[in-house]
Amino acid sequence: MKIRIGNGYDIHKLVEGRDLILGGIKIPHHLGLLGHSDADALTHAIMDAMLGALSLGDIGHYFPPTDAKWAGANSLKLLEEVNQLIQSHGWQIGNIDSVIIAQRPKLKAHLKSMRDCLAEVLGIELDQVSIKATTNEKLDAVGREEGIAVYAVVLLTK
Ligand code: MG
Repeated sequence: MKIRIGNGYDIHKLVEGRDLILGGIKIPHHLGLLGHSDADALTHAIMDAMLGALSLGDIGHYFPPTDAKWAGANSLKLLEEVNQLIQSHGWQIGNIDSVIIAQRPKLKAHLKSMRDCLAEVLGIELDQVSIKATTNEKLDAVGREEGIAVYAVVLLTK
């Protein structure tokens, strides 16, 4: 069996008047993430890790923010496309591990829904999708609730 590993990172600003969507789940909060698409930073970081594992570039290459086609895009649709791309190269996901860094809101109660959603979209088992959440201990921009950042690692197998 061959294995490849990739890492991904994303950060989006928290602003008023936007939905907060992470892992395809809309989370109740008075602020949401700003971006060209739905700004689902978790899904974006996972896609970048999947692409990185195969040296296929990054999501900006496939879904450029300058392209009106992706305005307000549901990131789960982009994730499906990236999954099809890695499968077309003969690879499948071994496992995903990710960490969301958010000072607020508390995300613990939503992690299982996000895992369910991403596992279903990717066609993998729940135990292949790990999502953790932490605060930034009130340090820096994320700690001041100016944004939410995500790190993800994905292992691919063939
Ligand atoms: Mg992004």
